[in-house]
Amino acid sequence: MIRKVFIDDTTLRDGEQAAEVSFTLEEKLQIARMLDEIGVDQIEAGTPAMGGEEQEAIRAIAASGLRAGVLAWCRATQSDIDAALACGVKGVNISLPVSDIHIQHKLQKTRAWVLAQLRWALSYAKRHGLYVSVGAEDASRADRRFLALYGRIAADHGADRLRYCDTVGVLDPFTTYEAIRALKEQVGISLEIHTHNDFGLATANALAAVKAGASYVNTTINGLGERAGNAALEEVVMALEHLDGISRLVKTEGLVSLCQEVARASGSPIPPWKAIIGRNAFAHESGIHVDGLLKARQTYEAFDPKDLGLNHRIVIGKHSGTHAVRFYFARLGIFLTEAESRALLEPIRRLASLRKRSLSADELRGIYEGVPGTSSKSEGGNLHWKIS
Ligand code: MN
Repeated sequence: MIRKVFIDDTTLRDGEQAAEVSFTLEEKLQIARMLDEIGVDQIEAGTPAMGGEEQEAIRAIAASGLRAGVLAWCRATQSDIDAALACGVKGVNISLPVSDIHIQHKLQKTRAWVLAQLRWALSYAKRHGLYVSVGAEDASRADRRFLALYGRIAADHGADRLRYCDTVGVLDPFTTYEAIRALKEQVGISLEIHTHNDFGLATANALAAVKAGASYVNTTINGLGERAGNAALEEVVMALEHLDGISRLVKTEGLVSLCQEVARASGSPIPPWKAIIGRNAFAHESGIHVDGLLKARQTYEAFDPKDLGLNHRIVIGKHSGTHAVRFYFARLGIFLTEAESRALLEPIRRLASLRKRSLSADELRGIYEGVPGTSSKSEGGNLHWKIS
């Protein structure tokens, strides 16, 4: 399957909506520039209806000469669309809820009201020359026939695409595939998928939607977003490239610095086990794994970390074996025999278990010097635990 998939990143809108996250204008501009540099197709820059600094930030991003399209998020009201126009953006996402849960409880309106509002707002935005992605909020819990009707009306009134939102993250990949496939047949415009990670399935669901024919994916850096977050840009692009053969969606070597910048600006550190960019994503300790890895990288790595500008690292800890210990000490300039490395395993395990972590070069040198049968014949040398 080789076809074009477009990334519409919403770190600056849905990402920032995460509880306790707030970007400054400068941070928003910087993240937008970095998204543009790696080649993201579109950037959802914020919600103009919030006014104040949010509008200033959207205006600054729209005026900063990015190659990426800049979208603003709007409800289906004239004041929201006017606020977007005042920010100078050329595109908007116009969002209306489509599930009865939202229509009845949140809006306290009817399905007919939603459709009338869609027709009006979409026509108004198109009259003002805007590119429009029509958002179907809570689509995953909506009546399928009503959703299809909503999509067809969007298409008939000139929408450029329809955004299917799994607003509370209740899809699984099989349901996603089937729902997007059916909607694609019923609605004659491009589909976008917007997923949430409440069950840890945001990326999987985004991939399923692409397989079913969605051509736009709404992502956030680090999966930042409301509650459990959104589909992570770095996961979606790497998975599409390596699992589905849809390559070079973005310049992947720019992902790490972007993820680090968003982690810093959002005050949300990246967990060590985070897919693609976590500190441990390419760290190896287990004896069997390191043994395989040292013979051929692909034995225990799904893809080459060099795609991200990274190296893998081998750490010495409780699960290390002799092969890894010899390799590591050789990097320190200490060349062990098989018997010596075997003798070191027990004290290494003891200290690593005690400290509940892997061991530093100094700790390993200390063990080496203290173990009978391993004399001080160190040649010194620098620590290079990253293999290049
Ligand atoms: Mn959302």
